[in-house]
Amino acid sequence: MGRIPQHFIDELIARADIVEVIGSRVQLKKSGREYKACCPFHSEKTPSFWVSPDKQFYHCFGCGKHGTVLGFLMDHDHLAFPEAVEELAARLGLEVPREGGADSSAKRADEPLYELAAKVARFYVESLAREMRARAYLERRGLTAESLERFQIGYAPNSWSEVLKRFGTDDNERRRLADIGLIIERERVQAQGGERFYDRFRDRIMFPIRDTRGRVIAFGGRVIDAGEPKYLNSPETVLFHKGRELYGLYETRRARSTLKSLVVVEGYMDAVRLHQEGVDYAVATLGTATTPEHFRRIFRLVADVVFAFDGDRAGRAAAWRALQQALPEAREGRQIRFLFLPDGQDPDTLIATEGRDAFEQRLTAAVPLSEYLVRELSEQSDLGHADGRARFAESARPLYQKLPAGVYRELLLGRLAQVVGLAPERLEALWSEKPGAAGAAAAAPPPAPAARARTGGGRGSLVRQAIVRLVHFPAIATEVSAAERSGLDSSEEAGIALLRELLDNLREQPAQISAQVIQRWAGREGGESLQKLLEREEVITDAAAAAGELRAALAKLADLAAERRLQALEARSRGGSLTAEEMKEFQRLIAHMSAREARRG
Ligand SMILES: [Zn+2]
Repeated sequence: MGRIPQHFIDELIARADIVEVIGSRVQLKKSGREYKACCPFHSEKTPSFWVSPDKQFYHCFGCGKHGTVLGFLMDHDHLAFPEAVEELAARLGLEVPREGGADSSAKRADEPLYELAAKVARFYVESLAREMRARAYLERRGLTAESLERFQIGYAPNSWSEVLKRFGTDDNERRRLADIGLIIERERVQAQGGERFYDRFRDRIMFPIRDTRGRVIAFGGRVIDAGEPKYLNSPETVLFHKGRELYGLYETRRARSTLKSLVVVEGYMDAVRLHQEGVDYAVATLGTATTPEHFRRIFRLVADVVFAFDGDRAGRAAAWRALQQALPEAREGRQIRFLFLPDGQDPDTLIATEGRDAFEQRLTAAVPLSEYLVRELSEQSDLGHADGRARFAESARPLYQKLPAGVYRELLLGRLAQVVGLAPERLEALWSEKPGAAGAAAAAPPPAPAARARTGGGRGSLVRQAIVRLVHFPAIATEVSAAERSGLDSSEEAGIALLRELLDNLREQPAQISAQVIQRWAGREGGESLQKLLEREEVITDAAAAAGELRAALAKLADLAAERRLQALEARSRGGSLTAEEMKEFQRLIAHMSAREARRG
């Protein structure tokens, strides 16, 4: 994929409303011109998290986290930078452009694969119409024609080479079929005339897996009667990453324009059946445990998710794994609940017998994550005895530590402490003693941001004055001439490197608002200082004044640099060792200084 062009990132920053984006994730309260909240990144009871609509950034005075709307999405939703850009762009209804041809050519390379997968999916659907046994099976399972159509359910003929022959017309096509996992290459080709490839799916009900754009990216195949394996999935391919996709998500989003919650089940049939009965917000994991990536996808769509697991041992094990993956995502405002079905039942059979209302009642009554955690751990330890409670505390510790700081974590701590019979502070202290210094250090409050800013140096210096003006009014950089800029070349003032970089960047790619500058410097050296300088309430009246002040500061810096250089050359010239180059520079500097004196005089 090509790089995301800077102008697009600038545009996003300029168009996005940070208050709206953060406000959809954190409860914000208006306070004067700004908004405040309890920080989502650290645990606190009085708000020290501020969002500034004017400056379009946020800052926590407790833990020091700060940044633009993109930085917030990255930290809060655990997104990589391009993902945060995608997320924000999607919110604003913009398509993310990419630099260079990398993306378009990559797209073109994938295009035939998507087309091929779609063609094979259609073929499976047609095959189903011809195969009585498969249709009878689906009827027995209670699937309606409408469900078959909605989920494009099909049938893979009982043949080793049906797909191979139909679609593998030449070497290229066979390679593609293998690339998307529809045919398998034999390790050794038997006697002459033996085929190199054979169909992966044979005599199975086929469930096409579609991405959120509706493109077929893989298949799940189920045996019709008995047989092993019961479910067979496409392997990981360029189009398909199991740990990321959720079966039925595309169909869910098509069925519902507004989505409040999701039910996550284990099987395709479960998801299809739930949709059919009106629980059309059901998705299935694809034969894998729930991954952190699944959670991130889910919580980008809804704040409420219920996992429905079979009541058998395998279901319980899967639920426990899901809980562990869910912990890092558990926070205030999100609901993660677990529904355990009666032993021997799965969502498919259960909703078929008791109907939608009863099933939805079960969903409503599902066990919250915290309760499930406490219940499961309690079952493993005898809470009637001191060492049982100690064991409980010990097994709860690693789970508790997976939780992000916040109100939710506090609540769970209280609940766990209650079970153990200790004060929450005592339990936490106990836990942080164990791992030694690391735990204790993590608990110590971070240094106050103001103190750190002060050690940044250069308070009130010319460099600082110049930078402050540039961050507040980035557009004024365009008023700086090339000569004014090059006057800084030989300056050695503290912080001059950042000023030079800033000027070069903003003269080359003008920015209109501060947050754009902050975003450009996110994670770069100097980024922190820029943010700090922007946060200071400065007495800068307007852009015109700022431009004047900037140019005055630059002129003074140039003079200072010239003076110092002159002194150095003078000292050297007394020893008579100036080169011809240096001699010229010396004369130029003298001319510069006398011109300046004349201006002043
Ligand atoms: Zn904080």
